[in-house]
Amino acid sequence: MNHEAVIFDIDDTLYNSTRLSVMARANAIEAMIDAGLPVDRQSGTELLNGVIQRLGANSNRHLDELVEAAGVPPSARLVAAGIVAYHNTKPVYLRPFEETIPTLLRLRDLGYRLGVITNGMAVKQWEKLIRLGIQHFFHTAVVSETMGVEKPDPRIFTVCCERLQVEPAASVYVGNDPGTDIFGANRVGMLSIRMRKGKHADVEPEDDAHRAAHDIHRLGDLLGLIEAGAIGLPAAPAPQP
Ligand SMILES: [Mg+2]
Repeated sequence: MNHEAVIFDIDDTLYNSTRLSVMARANAIEAMIDAGLPVDRQSGTELLNGVIQRLGANSNRHLDELVEAAGVPPSARLVAAGIVAYHNTKPVYLRPFEETIPTLLRLRDLGYRLGVITNGMAVKQWEKLIRLGIQHFFHTAVVSETMGVEKPDPRIFTVCCERLQVEPAASVYVGNDPGTDIFGANRVGMLSIRMRKGKHADVEPEDDAHRAAHDIHRLGDLLGLIEAGAIGLPAAPAPQP
């Protein structure tokens, strides 16, 4: 069968999000210790991880609450030191996987429509695409904050397919999280591909609904799946120069 679109998750699929988080948090804590936060690196890390777990990843009060958790009065100076160090980490670690750009280029050359479906805040997710330098590859990007529903809700998948003017069954979805990416894509009948990266890399699917049609370990493996016929070519391939 033909596949017309390839749609991607962002974090730990197009770049190493886990490494960025670890490094950015470590740098923030180090800068805050340097500015006077009375913790050592390890207890600072534990306190911050606890705060993030409690507030969720998208709060903008992580560092304020870290200061509180460290038992000192509110301090804009400490928070600002952490924020600066956190943001300065991005240019270093917010980089595409080695195979991301060559793979996206090849997929576009082959005539696939490309999209993104991502959970998170719209500006933050777009900031990632722009910093990764890949924002122009995609015909559309659907972000949960804008949609009002998150993966694995079927609507976020079907809206992306509608925007790309493809049926879900003619679409491929690539993501790293079996619970949101793979379960969600399977539910709407997309061909699910699981990127074995990030914190879920070694998690085995709890049932067939969470099992991807194919597992890959690097994005370039998509091209091998196309060559093997596991992913179909577009019905009207782009003319090759
Ligand atoms: Mg992800």
